Amino acid sequence: MSEKITRRSFVKGTAIAGAGAAMLGLSGCGYKDSAKALAEPKSETYDLVIIGSGGAGLTAAVEAHDKGITNLLVIEKMPVCGGNSSHSSSGMNASETAAQKAAGIEDTNELFINDTYVGGHNMGDMDLITYMCDNSNAAIEWLGNHDIVLDNLAKMGGASVKRCHRPTDGSAVGLTLVPGLLANVQSRGIDVVYNQRVTSLLTDNGKVAGAHAVDTQTLQETDYHAKAVIIATGGFGYNRDMIRKYQPSIADFPSTNTPGSQGDGIIIAQNIGADTVGMEYIQTHPTVEQTTSTLVAEAIRGAGAILVNKDAQRFFNEEGTRDAVSAAELEQPDKFSWCMYDANVHDKNKACSKYDKMGLSKKADTVAGLAQACDLDPTALQATVDAWNAIVAGDATDEFGRKPQETVQPFATAPFYAVKIAPGIHHTMGGVRVNDKTEVLKSDGTAIPGLFAAGEVTGGLHGANRLGGNAVCDIVVNGINAGNHAAAYINA
Ligand code: ADP
Repeated sequence: MSEKITRRSFVKGTAIAGAGAAMLGLSGCGYKDSAKALAEPKSETYDLVIIGSGGAGLTAAVEAHDKGITNLLVIEKMPVCGGNSSHSSSGMNASETAAQKAAGIEDTNELFINDTYVGGHNMGDMDLITYMCDNSNAAIEWLGNHDIVLDNLAKMGGASVKRCHRPTDGSAVGLTLVPGLLANVQSRGIDVVYNQRVTSLLTDNGKVAGAHAVDTQTLQETDYHAKAVIIATGGFGYNRDMIRKYQPSIADFPSTNTPGSQGDGIIIAQNIGADTVGMEYIQTHPTVEQTTSTLVAEAIRGAGAILVNKDAQRFFNEEGTRDAVSAAELEQPDKFSWCMYDANVHDKNKACSKYDKMGLSKKADTVAGLAQACDLDPTALQATVDAWNAIVAGDATDEFGRKPQETVQPFATAPFYAVKIAPGIHHTMGGVRVNDKTEVLKSDGTAIPGLFAAGEVTGGLHGANRLGGNAVCDIVVNGINAGNHAAAYINA
């Protein structure tokens, strides 16, 4: 029997994904490093197998369990759980929530649907978008009922109103969400196995009947038989070969992804006839520190940070969508910019202290000092800051269309900070085709019996561009959705 979370692996599982990943030496693509079996495959039997222990997989596990599927297993290929979800930097978009109502923010599901559709360049699947937005408030409440409270609101790029829900202290959502979900998994006694890389799906008469995995340490193979499988393996943002294949123009950008994001789930689903959608749509995040691939959270811009180029000039609406801001950055001299904020923004966003500790931020008591630290012209930077503060005060209109008057305060409270950033690979919008029941579809539109998928492994929801805050909404809403539908399928 493989190691269970209820024993020593749970301790490892509470660590943040990524830390131990490098030691596995995963190659850039597919199964190059899957070695031959050392022995005959072992065999285990469950009702439900969930592949991947990121936000989508853990949510699905909790929901399926609570719908009566107690004989279930979560299979994770890394030594730790959490995947990219652990690194989610901002929060979860949701509309018509209690937190919004308490803050006097008027929002509707329709507005959220429209923002998501427009943000995705009018290419998102309307059924998937509608399902996610209509169920977003219920998902926030579901989290609250599972002791994961997201009630600190922020504004994200492409959102008409403040609807990004963060932990109460304004910290990065992943560090609350993943440990919170894991605590729920543990308290239910749900088994999680680590270092088990699923390499194929088992089928029986056209139905999915489990997953075949290889232990990444011992190379022992195991057939995990099950009545249904949920794929929650995340995207392919760490797989250079796949990025090169689908979007060669960004193949050399740094990636903010965790090493487990290799697109495995897409490949194993394709191998049994699943269709894919939108594989060429790969999102770059505009504020990535290039030497460490550290993402400077979008909520920091939403709170008031500005982007200035090498000439100390602002050049775009910093609250624009990720693709648009990234494209604008690449047009600047030397293709980078500085993300600048004052102490007021810094102190409201816990992530800023992390950048300080990592030595990524320049800091100064005056604007001139910050210019010097960033090798910018002090007079030009002072003029940029003065012009920005006039816009914030409502005395001038922003030539780039940003409307900060109601949401941010002037860039005026010392000390001042700046992190040098440029675009990095962040999210893969494409993936396996699913319907709004999380059933995996073939190219003829029919569902593959027994196979469900949720989270970044799926395509279609975000169209050609994902809005910040919508990944967490997707994984929670559709993790619950997948858990429900898989349970109903098993119980039918
Ligand atoms: P999502 O946000 O959709 O939940 P994440 O990236 O947070 O996606 O989590 C996906 C998880 O799936 C990661 O922990 C990753 O290591 C795991 N994973 C990816 N491929 C496999 C695989 N072949 N077998 C088992 N686990 C996998």
